[in-house]
Amino acid sequence: AIPMAGVPYHAVEAYLARLVRKGESVAICEQIGNPAEARGPVDRQVVRIVTPGTLTDEALLPESRDNLVAAIFSDGKQTGIAWLDLAGGRFRLTEVNSPDALSGEIERLRPAEIVTSEDQPRPDRIRDEIRVTSRPPWHFDLDSATRLLCSQFHTRDLSGFGCDDLPRGVTAAGALLQYVNDTQKTSLPHLQAISVEKRDDAIVMDGPTRRNLELEQSLSGHHEHTLAGIMDRCRTSMGSRMLRRWIQRPLRDRDVLRARCQATETLLATRIAANLQDALRDVGDMERILSRVALRSARPRDLRQLHSALSQLPGLRNTMQSIDSPLLQSVRGQISDHPRLRELLGKAIIDNPPMLIRDGGVIADGYDEELDELRGIATNADQYLLDLEAREKERTGISTLKLGYNRVHGYYIEISKGQASKAPDEYTRRQTLKGAERYITPELKAFEDKVLSAHERALNREKQLYEGLLDRLLEVLPELMRTASALAELDVLACFTERAMALNLSRPDFVDEPCIDIRGGRHLVVEQVIDAPFIANDLVLSERLRLLVITGPNMGGKSTYMRQAALIAILAHIGSFVPADSLRIGPIDRIFTRIGASDDLAGGRSTFMVEMAETATILNNATEHSLVLMDEIGRGTSTFDGLSLAWAAAHYMGEKVRAFTLFATHYFELTALSAEIPDCANVHLDATEHKGQLVFLHAVKPGPANRSYGLQVAALAGVPQVVVRRAKSYLATLEAQRNADSPQGQLSFTSAAEPD
Ligand code: ADP
Repeated sequence: AIPMAGVPYHAVEAYLARLVRKGESVAICEQIGNPAEARGPVDRQVVRIVTPGTLTDEALLPESRDNLVAAIFSDGKQTGIAWLDLAGGRFRLTEVNSPDALSGEIERLRPAEIVTSEDQPRPDRIRDEIRVTSRPPWHFDLDSATRLLCSQFHTRDLSGFGCDDLPRGVTAAGALLQYVNDTQKTSLPHLQAISVEKRDDAIVMDGPTRRNLELEQSLSGHHEHTLAGIMDRCRTSMGSRMLRRWIQRPLRDRDVLRARCQATETLLATRIAANLQDALRDVGDMERILSRVALRSARPRDLRQLHSALSQLPGLRNTMQSIDSPLLQSVRGQISDHPRLRELLGKAIIDNPPMLIRDGGVIADGYDEELDELRGIATNADQYLLDLEAREKERTGISTLKLGYNRVHGYYIEISKGQASKAPDEYTRRQTLKGAERYITPELKAFEDKVLSAHERALNREKQLYEGLLDRLLEVLPELMRTASALAELDVLACFTERAMALNLSRPDFVDEPCIDIRGGRHLVVEQVIDAPFIANDLVLSERLRLLVITGPNMGGKSTYMRQAALIAILAHIGSFVPADSLRIGPIDRIFTRIGASDDLAGGRSTFMVEMAETATILNNATEHSLVLMDEIGRGTSTFDGLSLAWAAAHYMGEKVRAFTLFATHYFELTALSAEIPDCANVHLDATEHKGQLVFLHAVKPGPANRSYGLQVAALAGVPQVVVRRAKSYLATLEAQRNADSPQGQLSFTSAAEPD
């Protein structure tokens, strides 16, 4: 069964929003014939299919997040991914070579919809809320994909886009374009190119890492207390979206990063960031407006907003003129202000236009002579009716005679029941009411025809003029789109400057030697949410010190310390200043985390299984340029199993992989690793007992912790006193037993030589 619904057409948006939120696709059918000319039922057609991934309507889109549709195509060895932001005109592709890499990319992009071939299995580990749409296998064909893409971009081949050696990516892109053509049923002039995102250009992060670091969404599902939430003070939604794209894909090209930092530094020095931000506020979401122009679905208010955006540009360009930053000058060079177009839009659209062009009243007076004349007829009608009324009253001597209009019957002369008998012969009765009769006369009828046709012609003329404006805009669409993207970038850079000032951030120093040297580092999000002052900590990793074993009580600040290292590295690699007194950082290629416990019950994996799968990914994929955070490995199984796994994993990281690794653990036995591995050291988070109360100092100190304070934390958390006391006495027994078994107080296998 296919559900079918009719909705009041003026309320369609609200219904669409609800259906789309439920992940449904909606085919919209409309009358396409002219009812006046049609014989029998008017022709109808599916004019557009609204799907979760192809939204462009302002009311249906999340403001500060991209809404993407992606396509995946795998030939068994490599997988191509293509994705499209229809509301922003961005079309990208890439190829990956493992299921982990695929799920990492999907987690990064978080498309609302994924298009796959019917004959390929649903890619695993895809979140439930992503809609998967199956298409016939023949849509995934390299030759037809290439042909389709070439015809979209008006090129002879795809070599200009750098995707010659990415056949699966191109196949996916072609299938995606086919899908979008089939659903939108209109030309897509704003898709002018496709570009390749090479995985190695960015710091690679897998799905769990992105989630654990709470880049855009916290583990509890909120957006506010996340890196993006704290960093985003952009003045336009397109800026906010660009910032989120940057955060999800930190770059490795240090020239780009240095240029961004230099831009921030000059903006700080010249103190004009606030002026730029003020001007940007009035620019609005130019990017999405332009996409709607391209799809010819732009609304009158969109055009008005575009006018206001264009009006800001001369001032903006002027303010930027003297800034001594190559990046900002190149951004300035991409902003074109189109004075003629601005004037035209200003003249054409009234200040506060209605939502839709449908009922007219959008085009301003004085813009078009013909429209003014047609509107004149309708306006002069009022005077004519007053005159007619006075004339007829006098001629017939009927005091209650008056003229009126209603939508069903048109113009009429109304006479009260009492005087109706005095109506002249040429009055033809149109309608009888309880207390009055309504009439029409040949003169009034002729007048009515003239007015109504003028009204209709004015409306048509308005629509025609509106289409003309869209045509004018389409002529310069590429330049306008470049301008919008430059403005978004300017917005992000101004936001970096504002944040650097407000959050006391400092400029990172990118060096070539392998190191991560953070002095006085802070965790931006924790710092914002706690009431107490945040304790800044150093972290020094270098060629000769690659593995830090971190111990300390629960709640001591281990996770915070580890995550802040990753967040600082990410901020540096989007070109932002960082929350530290100073940062020196060498090349970083990947960031991995293994933090926290989560079940994947739907995927049929227990907590421990998830933990081990994530650990395996890290051990297999990290390099000596990677930053790895491992928290509490081996907690989901029996103590000795867990301890052995944790010990072996840390050992492997420290000796074989040699990634920059922060390894937090409750197994004190691991602190002995520093004696075995040259590049390993211990640090701990300090806590102390004051009058029987546990006090966390949150300061990182060299050496291992001397105790774990587990029972004190339990007491703090409100575990009943008797239970804590019982635990204490059991602990004493355990420790006595262990000391009897092993004289060093260590498990013997950690120090014994491993048999090869
Ligand atoms: P652990 O991982 O050791 O259990 P967390 O890193 O989760 O500890 O930290 C517990 C709490 O301690 C945090 O939620 C925060 O409120 C506080 N905290 C952590 N680090 C600091 C710090 N450097 N300065 C101030 N408070 C901190």
